[in-house]
Amino acid sequence: MTHPLLKHLRDELAALDREGLTKRERLITTPQRARIAVRDPLAEGGERAMINLCANNYLGLADDPDVIASARAALDEFGFGMASVRFICGTQTLHRALETRIARWLGTDDAILFAACFDANGGLFEPLLGPEDAVISDSLNHASIIDGIRMTKARRYRFENADMNALEDRLKEADRDGARFRLIATDGVFSMDGHVAKLPEICALAERYGAMVMVDDCHAHGHLGEGGRGSPALTGGGGRVQIVTGTLGKTLGGGMGGFVAAPQPVIDTLRQRARPYLFSNSLAPPLAAGALKAIDIAEAADDRRERLAILTRRFRVAMEGAGFDLLPGETPIVPVMLGEAQRAQDLARALDERGVYVAGFFYPVVPRGRARIRVQMSTALSDADLDHAIDAFADAGRALGII
Ligand SMILES: *Cc1c(COP(=O)(O)O)cnc(C)c1O
Repeated sequence: MTHPLLKHLRDELAALDREGLTKRERLITTPQRARIAVRDPLAEGGERAMINLCANNYLGLADDPDVIASARAALDEFGFGMASVRFICGTQTLHRALETRIARWLGTDDAILFAACFDANGGLFEPLLGPEDAVISDSLNHASIIDGIRMTKARRYRFENADMNALEDRLKEADRDGARFRLIATDGVFSMDGHVAKLPEICALAERYGAMVMVDDCHAHGHLGEGGRGSPALTGGGGRVQIVTGTLGKTLGGGMGGFVAAPQPVIDTLRQRARPYLFSNSLAPPLAAGALKAIDIAEAADDRRERLAILTRRFRVAMEGAGFDLLPGETPIVPVMLGEAQRAQDLARALDERGVYVAGFFYPVVPRGRARIRVQMSTALSDADLDHAIDAFADAGRALGII
């Protein structure tokens, strides 16, 4: 007999589908890069070439030969996996080398690795804060920060995205509630909208109210700011942000892994008490070695960062010229606003037919009525790739009556 839960789930999935909210996964047959191929039984040879505009591969390091060589060498020297958490028998020289490299790069006392930034954010708040404390969180923060904050016993306060008056009100409220310690948590770059947090203002308020600042810089590390040091470096907030979290799964090679970089007592506390660190496997050696190489490359990659900015400007100007509605911003995330989910799905499909791979984002990832296609620039893209993508957008947009 079918369990009633399964029938319930089928009904819910059918309802999602009727609303045009089902996310479908295409099968890619190549490494991650600007020109990929996807499986398509109807195409000649069973696959189709596409230009990829939706990877977090901002500096093109996901298939970088030096990153791959470094990972391969580690596979030979350190093996495939650790089969242990860090504190039992899962810490190789390689793991400490990566942690100290991250700390040196970002200018913090130390760093600690997690299996993903989702885990870094998930494990960060609970050990640091108790019921006497306050955590003040931006309303657009990433799901992993929201979940991490849910795990704390601290009082939770939320301010509207980037609203500094609201942040100040929450800080005053926390004060009135008698908070012992206050921690402000924000994304460095808001991934769905592509804008940068107002770190100088946030840090100034933090200093006035005796709060600490935590920034999740997953969409900035490697490709934004001097040395790729992310949003604090970009906004001049460097040195005033105490706790930074990041991922090895985006610009820094796109493999896997996350980290916290912070003052020594924070890192030492997380090593003793962060649950995703204590109760989850150590990062695989090839991933650690690939990320180490990616950081070396990214830190020195002023040329790539400049190229990324040029590509982004060129894409923005062309798309606005064609009549598309873009959210403003200074990062390589370019949201093309489309309104209803179905419209984003239709444009994504029309682009797919024209050899351009994009992803439509809609509720619950973004608010209802604010569906979009989020385009992400990458230095892996050639000028010809970008021209092709722009032409495809214009052609598909006209065909659907969007522009
Ligand atoms: C991608 C992302 C994460 C999750 O990183 P993973 O290492 O993939 O788990 C966390 N926070 C933000 C802001 C992100 O963009």
